[in-house]
Amino acid sequence: MTVNIRTIQHYMYCPRRFGLLELNQDWSENAFVVMANIMHERVHSGKHELHSKNKIELSSVSLYHDELDLYGVADCIEFVRSKTGTYIEQLGDKFDVNIVEYKPRQPDSGAANETDIIQVFAQKLCADYIWKCKSTGYIYYGDTRRRVKLQLNEEYDKYYSLLQKLISEMNEILESGNIPVRIKGQKCSGCSIKDVCVPQNKKYTVRSLVKEESV
Ligand code: SF4
Repeated sequence: MTVNIRTIQHYMYCPRRFGLLELNQDWSENAFVVMANIMHERVHSGKHELHSKNKIELSSVSLYHDELDLYGVADCIEFVRSKTGTYIEQLGDKFDVNIVEYKPRQPDSGAANETDIIQVFAQKLCADYIWKCKSTGYIYYGDTRRRVKLQLNEEYDKYYSLLQKLISEMNEILESGNIPVRIKGQKCSGCSIKDVCVPQNKKYTVRSLVKEESV
């Protein structure tokens, strides 16, 4: 099944949340979601292209990988002119390709969350596929105004196997149509759909709920 990159984070946060969002189309927003949305709206408010002598910067770039069945949208892709970079046919020169994802808050540890890293890694696979390059991933944090470089090429194998495992688990849920139960110990306080979810340790499908309603 084709996977939208943004859903991988939902699954990593909580498989039940992923099931509710993807199978039930449940949605609700809390302060964290609104904050992230405002930041992304600023980034995506009208696609823009900035051209300078050494750099081309594109926002809201659609990405895909036909062989991995992945697609998504990158906040920003930078093409930095470089003699040692990849020749990008559409731009007629050699470039280093940078992916920049925007996040509102930097974790207290200073290091990026694994869920954010996997999101950018999936974008990187798509960018590498499209432009036949070896792109670099960054996260820019709005609160600290810092940009953190991710070790995606250095730890490629580790992130690749993790991503494959996640995608296969997500596909299992989508194919079964079963919304997973809440994992024991799952942290729910920051979840935007907790009022919809009402954590319960009971497996159900959309069909079984409809049956219950009609009894
Ligand atoms: S409330 Fe908890 S169990 Fe339910 S979707 Fe959110 S994080 Fe998952």
